Amino acid sequence: MSDTYWMECVGEALCEAGISATEEQLKTVAGIVQGAHEVYGESHGSEPAGLPQDAEVKALRAELQKERAKVTCGECKGTGQIVTVYLPGRRSIETCDACQGRGRV
Ligand SMILES: [Zn+2]
Repeated sequence: MSDTYWMECVGEALCEAGISATEEQLKTVAGIVQGAHEVYGESHGSEPAGLPQDAEVKALRAELQKERAKVTCGECKGTGQIVTVYLPGRRSIETCDACQGRGRV
């Protein structure tokens, strides 16, 4: 969510409460509210409405970590293919079994 959104929210709240604030004060409060909103899930065990569900976030994080932990496949040197030359000018190209052609394991 943009800073403008939180500036407007806080600005409206202050106005309704009859509190006047400078642009700088408004920015400070809006920044704090925005930060609090972003860590809401961590402190309350659930996400505020409109954000991805916890389980979805966890699944995506796990997938990302799995992807990051992968290394270049040693069998095919990251090409995803095993090229076997059995006669000059004749070769077979097979999908690497170790990485299923992805080049990373
Ligand atoms: Zn491979």
